[in-house]
Amino acid sequence: MELLDGKLVSAKIKEDIKQEAAAFMASTGRKPHLVAILVGHDGASETYVASKMRNCELVGFESTNIHYEADVTEAELIAKIESLNADDRVDGLIVQLPLPAHINPERITEAIDYRKDVDGFHPVNLGRMQRNLPCFIPATPYGVMLMLDHYRIDTAGLHAVVVGRSNIVGSPMSILLARNSVPGNCTVTLTHSRTKNITEEVRRADIVVAAIGKKHFITPDMVKPGAIVIDVGINRETSTQTKSGYKLYGDVDFDGVAPKASWITPVPGGVGLMTIIGLLKNTLEAAKGTIYPR
Ligand code: NDP
Repeated sequence: MELLDGKLVSAKIKEDIKQEAAAFMASTGRKPHLVAILVGHDGASETYVASKMRNCELVGFESTNIHYEADVTEAELIAKIESLNADDRVDGLIVQLPLPAHINPERITEAIDYRKDVDGFHPVNLGRMQRNLPCFIPATPYGVMLMLDHYRIDTAGLHAVVVGRSNIVGSPMSILLARNSVPGNCTVTLTHSRTKNITEEVRRADIVVAAIGKKHFITPDMVKPGAIVIDVGINRETSTQTKSGYKLYGDVDFDGVAPKASWITPVPGGVGLMTIIGLLKNTLEAAKGTIYPR
């Protein structure tokens, strides 16, 4: 078994991004700028946004966190998004999900200018991704593809089984793995909570991508010997053993599955770190105007 090491790969790519950000600063006199809007006080969301902001600083980006209370109206939020869309000093704009129930996430996603949509959730970016055109790719699946690419894993012709079909992880993951590109060219099965006999489906996989949100859902009996196992899951449980007061678990039973796998991502230290890289790369591209000219 070999580790798909998010710590190592993300540190390396971060170094490249830092150099590119410095070159951007040298030629334009400004830093790439990411704005993140956070609504309410969900603990996990606050942690994710803080980490995104910290990583921006680390690579020499400017970052702004706009924090609203949970009772902000949808109209207020859209008005803010529209003013940030029009602001030339803003390159990338993200709204941290989930949002409170009174705010429609689809309307918020579509309010963001697709040219600043560095989360890659806007229908224009999703459509362009499907057609293999230049676009912002959702950060988590993008991070997974960068990881596979870094380790030069030849995925062509492999059978990939993606577990989970969310708009932000499972669905785009299935599109990327199926695309005629490198990595890619997989035969893909996309599974979800209505799939019959999910164990049998996963057992056929050369590549398993687990994006379910259920601790240790993927057990050793479900995994074919030699499979490549990508664990997207982040399940937080309170713990008295850690400084933060919680501990993270993946959707894969790592200890049981690792001896059977050819490659596997740990949690933490795997896909989560690569997600940040996906976001930073998209923000840099947005600033440079390489995907959508400024
Ligand atoms: P969602 O809750 O949006 O989607 C979960 C998916 O899993 C759904 O498609 C659901 O099916 C499916 N599912 C749930 N239960 C089962 C089951 N028993 N059998 C088969 N499928 C099931 O989650 P996300 O995609 O947003 O996130 C998934 C996990 O990844 C979470 O742990 C999340 O924290 C983590 N995550 C990690 C990131 C990272 O950076 N590493 C980034 C984003 C998310 P259905 O559609 O039928 O309901």
